Amino acid sequence: MSLNLLILGSGSALPTLNSNQTAQVLETESEVYLIDCGEATQIELRRHKVRVQRLNHIFISHLHGDHFFGLVGLLSTMHLLGRQKTVHIHGPQGLEEIVRIQFRNAGSHLSYEMKFHTITKGDELIHEDKYVKVTSLELNHRIQTFGFLFEEQPKPRKLIPEALAKYKIPNYARKSITQGEDYVDPDGKTVKNALLSTDPEPSRRYAYCSDTAFYEPLIQRIENVDLLYHESTFLDADIERAKATYHSTAKDAARVANLAGVGKLLLGHFSNRYKNREGFLQEARPIFLESHIAEEGERYSF
Ligand SMILES: [Zn+2]
Ligand SMILES: [Zn+2]
Repeated sequence: MSLNLLILGSGSALPTLNSNQTAQVLETESEVYLIDCGEATQIELRRHKVRVQRLNHIFISHLHGDHFFGLVGLLSTMHLLGRQKTVHIHGPQGLEEIVRIQFRNAGSHLSYEMKFHTITKGDELIHEDKYVKVTSLELNHRIQTFGFLFEEQPKPRKLIPEALAKYKIPNYARKSITQGEDYVDPDGKTVKNALLSTDPEPSRRYAYCSDTAFYEPLIQRIENVDLLYHESTFLDADIERAKATYHSTAKDAARVANLAGVGKLLLGHFSNRYKNREGFLQEARPIFLESHIAEEGERYSF
């Protein structure tokens, strides 16, 4: 099964009728992960039929409001719906204080536990479960900001049915063969794993990088990822504005994608000063052909 990325918001600071602040959902076989939570996120989750109670892990990149103004509302809805299960919230220093102060002053006692995991630096394993490993990525923005690298856990090796029959491999030994072990029969004779199984499907990798100026050290961290979301708030004509606010242009994002050799680039976090988004593709594609606009409501499988 592939991974799915659902874009809920790909605009920047100012929400409009046509675009939402940043939020997206990464869907694996049975877990869903929310990445950033701008205003309107819970409405968009509803619109795209992602049940809020399925969210167990929320990742917040930084404390600019367009990346977390929807969080308290979402957490409150989980409570109103009677949630019992703990919610894990991964984000920078300060997020826990902001969220708790709101509930405390409202006299709210949530029906479930919020567990905050403070991210303090890049290159840190911040979450691991049966499906994925998540590592923080250091970005270059006006305040401390982290990207996230999601990597699927290694998949089981594929058994070769004819070989299993030929070497009379009993059922109980099959699982260990999918994990790479040789088979040793009751007489002590070994059958090499390579005769019984083939390499697993490659594990897919997704890198989320918003908000950031062009940042050279990022490139090696995200080398060869299957899918990269990189912000491109501005077009080249506004490069001075991009530099002053520590944001990227479409060209910056395409350069990162090109140098990192990624499979596909999704551009997002667009400034509302631009009436249409064609310009972003026109600037990015000559540098990195597989550049695409992160369309709200679209699911990207990889
Ligand atoms: Zn932003
Ligand atoms: Zn920001």
